[in-house]
Amino acid sequence: MSESGCIRTIAIVGGGTAGWLAACMLVRALPAGTAITVIESGQIGPIGVGEATIPPFIDLLRFLGIDEREFVRANGATYKLGILYRDWSRLGRDYWHPFGTFGATIGRRPFHHYWQRAAAQGLAPGIADYSLCAALAEAGKFRFPDPRAPGAAAGLRYALHFDAASVAGFLRVLAGKLGVQRLERTVASATRRADGFIESLLFEDGGRLGADLYIDCSGFHGVLIEQVLGTGYVDWGDLLPCDRAVAAATALCAARPPYTLSRARAAGWQWRIPLQHRAGNGYVYSSAHLSDTAASDDLLGQIGAPLAPPRILRFTAGHRRRLWSGNCVALGLASGFLEPLESTSIQLVINGVFNLLDHFPDRAFDPANIEAYNRELLEELAHIRDFLLLHYWGSGRDDAPFWRDVRAVRLPDSLAQRIELYRGTGRIRPRPGELFTDLSWFYIFAGLGIRPAALDPLIDARAFAHAQAAMQRLRQSVAAEVAAAHAHDSFFGAGA
Ligand SMILES: Cc1cc2nc3c(=O)[nH]c(=O)nc-3n(C[C@H](O)[C@H](O)[C@H](O)COP(=O)(O)OP(=O)(O)OC[C@H]3O[C@@H](n4cnc5c(N)ncnc54)[C@H](O)[C@@H]3O)c2cc1C
Repeated sequence: MSESGCIRTIAIVGGGTAGWLAACMLVRALPAGTAITVIESGQIGPIGVGEATIPPFIDLLRFLGIDEREFVRANGATYKLGILYRDWSRLGRDYWHPFGTFGATIGRRPFHHYWQRAAAQGLAPGIADYSLCAALAEAGKFRFPDPRAPGAAAGLRYALHFDAASVAGFLRVLAGKLGVQRLERTVASATRRADGFIESLLFEDGGRLGADLYIDCSGFHGVLIEQVLGTGYVDWGDLLPCDRAVAAATALCAARPPYTLSRARAAGWQWRIPLQHRAGNGYVYSSAHLSDTAASDDLLGQIGAPLAPPRILRFTAGHRRRLWSGNCVALGLASGFLEPLESTSIQLVINGVFNLLDHFPDRAFDPANIEAYNRELLEELAHIRDFLLLHYWGSGRDDAPFWRDVRAVRLPDSLAQRIELYRGTGRIRPRPGELFTDLSWFYIFAGLGIRPAALDPLIDARAFAHAQAAMQRLRQSVAAEVAAAHAHDSFFGAGA
């Protein structure tokens, strides 16, 4: 390709977490001389929620050259070792979806098969016996991983909870230092070339801006991808019926736990996310089963006095029919939304940008390249949809119409096949590139009380007996690490 065919100018519409993340990642990765402009409206604010991440976010900080401790300090962040699910399988019962390793591979067999055999033999193994993240979280403690350590600390992984509004500002400052231009304008529309590609953005004040590549990070508005290009929306509301959230922050009233709490409620679920300076709370619910007023009252009844009036947010589970159309790529809420049950949205922005870099176009915009990008990201979205759906479908709750309805949903074939395989043999075969590994699926299956009919035949009584000493050492290693670790709160000083 000739130099003249290279993408030289990029316009990013939207200055929320997605817009500034995309700007920082692109300016780091693209050749010097690529001009990147972020356009953010002074009239339309960012959504201001999105406080929980998953472990690859830590890798992103390294990619961006951000000092993690500085990021934690500046954004009121706390550490997250996983999610505690309360009342999901049945009322009064908890289960963990922790990060990090679980036991160890013994004789080439994934450890969860040994766990299943221990459970089948009535040994009542706990997840936290073999997961350092779950054990630390249960104890309200934290430590950093040590890749060189011989014990369980080598496999520890963690993510962050942070103040969403502050993170967008942090990234804006970083992007500015890296040479990204910022324009405060409201995009009213765009002109299009004869081939349908976007030619230039039209601002409300009458100005315009042209670029080679446009990135739509305008939130649920989808200013370019939907309002200009009309790509259409694939609605997954029949599978994931939660379509509202009411969110409110409260003062801290107890030690900050190193995990997100997700508690199942009558018409959805409630989150609690500890930050250094406050707690984030919200109730994600189905408007077909609960009114906004009832959801808001219910949340306030649970959390006490909020620091500001609760906010209602509306969404539809699903995605744009095309995430990349012509010379426009949608990222973040502009590309679609899957409810925040597993904190995947910000990670999807990051994966979207890395995917864009892997498919970075020239000005010919090869259609096959665009199709490959769309295919990969849509597969990833379907995978996450299935994973979220399992949480609902597998619940043992039948005490409210919402739970009876979600348990009766007709499953997509992809999920039905996964469940069938697991129910038969306990096997979970992850596919390359999937965000959630076999371990994540195992935690949800096991937590919901879904047990396989048969055990891995390669772990017979003899193999299991042989593994006993190794399993004992793993338990001891986890227990020793927990005993030696410090309270999570002690990483942030007083405040609770
Ligand atoms: C209830 C809820 C809870 C969530 N929790 C999590 C979580 O725990 N973890 C997680 O990873 N994600 C979570 N998310 C998702 C997360 O909030 C978003 O993925 C993330 O904040 C990125 O948002 P965004 O930048 O795409 O959109 P926004 O924050 O909405 O930003 C849109 C930007 O576009 C600009 N804009 C809009 N229209 C125009 C225009 N016409 N002209 C110029 N600029 C314009 C606005 O000014 C704004 O800057 C949650 C979402 C919801 C709804």
